[in-house]
Amino acid sequence: MLYIQDIMKSYLDSKKQQKIERDIASKAALASLPGVRKLLKLKSQLWMKCLAGEISEEKCVADSRKIEARIARELRAGGYEPSIIEQRPICETCSDTGYTKGKVCKCLKSYVANELTLLDNSIQSENFEVFDASIYSDDTVGKSISDRESVIAIRAGMERFIEDFDDKSASFLFTGPTGSGKTFMANCVAFELISQCKPVMSLSARTLVEIMGSYGSASFEDSDAVYASDLLIIDDLGMEGINDYSGSIIYNVVNDRLLSQKSTIVATVLATKEIANIYHPSLASRLLNSFSTRRFPSTTRAARHRKLSNGESNEIRYQAL
Ligand SMILES: [Zn+2]
Repeated sequence: MLYIQDIMKSYLDSKKQQKIERDIASKAALASLPGVRKLLKLKSQLWMKCLAGEISEEKCVADSRKIEARIARELRAGGYEPSIIEQRPICETCSDTGYTKGKVCKCLKSYVANELTLLDNSIQSENFEVFDASIYSDDTVGKSISDRESVIAIRAGMERFIEDFDDKSASFLFTGPTGSGKTFMANCVAFELISQCKPVMSLSARTLVEIMGSYGSASFEDSDAVYASDLLIIDDLGMEGINDYSGSIIYNVVNDRLLSQKSTIVATVLATKEIANIYHPSLASRLLNSFSTRRFPSTTRAARHRKLSNGESNEIRYQAL
């Protein structure tokens, strides 16, 4: 399990650690170069004089530049880069806070992406960068747009969803045959959101029923996460063992998330007609009326995307909260 706050903590710890290492290196350099220590003292005395009004600011700036140049020369002569004694942040864009102008900084994004590679490999290998629409047919015979174009449109819609994620919630029903890319697309969305430090949880409908149904044996963290995650992905709807009990559990989760305006993606091989026939009208109407349906066409090539077998899907695929 991966928690966003843990990632943030380890990110900040890593920056702290890098800073400590730099301080140690800087102290070692200064210890071996007494000339540089003297020059640094001279520079601070210069500024004291300036603050006391004994010398002008212009003179102080000019003199301290000269001293800095001498410091740099002496450091280089001693085999060090002049930057070794600078107190600059490691990431100048965000000053090592991870955020810049209210957005996640590149340095934190790549740190999170790195952490994600330790997770279920689906999330590291399935993201928009490796999305390949060419596995869908571009044939338009008998239809207004090709399968390829319709999947490209789904992708564009998902990118808008991610863009607006902080401002509005949305829920999607991904339908389509096995291997049509529903889980892949859901993973792409999850990857983007987790990279932005958004809480995401992905699990199969079967696991959802298990977690929410087995009070006591399931961890409270997991059942809380089902409600707390900003995006919940419920995969393989229809494989959970369909009955009134499982239906009511899924209904409660879906309905609660709709009421609390949290986004949910449900993926299923069931057609909308089957959903209407199989499930209780209350759940069917939530899925068919409150969710936006995205129909995925079959791919032309044999499923190149990893598809978990039913046996394997019985666990939380990934969770970042
Ligand atoms: Zn940064």
